[in-house]
Amino acid sequence: MLPTTFQPGQTRPIGEFADLPANIRKKIVIQDDGCWHWTGTVTAARTRPKMYRVPKDYEGTRNFSGSYQRERGAPQVRHPGKGWSVSAWRYIYGLLTGLDYGDVPTLSRCGCDTCVSPHHVVEMDVPPQQKLAQARARDAEGFYSSEKAQPETAQAERQAGLQEDVLDKLKECRPTNWGGVDIAEEEYGFERGSISIETWDAYVSWTVENPEED
Ligand SMILES: [Zn+2]
Repeated sequence: MLPTTFQPGQTRPIGEFADLPANIRKKIVIQDDGCWHWTGTVTAARTRPKMYRVPKDYEGTRNFSGSYQRERGAPQVRHPGKGWSVSAWRYIYGLLTGLDYGDVPTLSRCGCDTCVSPHHVVEMDVPPQQKLAQARARDAEGFYSSEKAQPETAQAERQAGLQEDVLDKLKECRPTNWGGVDIAEEEYGFERGSISIETWDAYVSWTVENPEED
């Protein structure tokens, strides 16, 4: 069970390099500067245009239609449980701190795009489970209206499975991950209930690992 008092920026005990599975260890070269260089797959850094959203009722013209976003190179590792690739630095951090991959909070990385060292990341957020607990606590205190609870019910009826094409479309239009799946569907013209829970979770993980840079 996670400590519920963990705060961003705090450090947790981190296991030894030798504790990692052999197939992970053999892909890491520990460098003099302390970075754990990942020799496995690393997605290339890229810059891509992102269109600004235009309100539906806006009919004028605009000088600026978008901005460029930089995405860092990202070490990838196949998650044995999920069956697809996940961020290697997050996966390794989870292994050496005893957190499930899904419980690893947002991590700020060191300046090296190929580094997967658990000593070179800083927790930027509380773990998802803790966030959920906090949200529920707020809910219990009545900060949210009862309408806010409805998306959870709709999610329970959603289809299962990862939809690669839907995931690509989500990455393209990049709805806010905190808005929830229903808001994303509504704002970007997806059919209601068409985004599976797995796809949405994969998208949220992706946004956490590829934060927007202004
Ligand atoms: Zn590093």
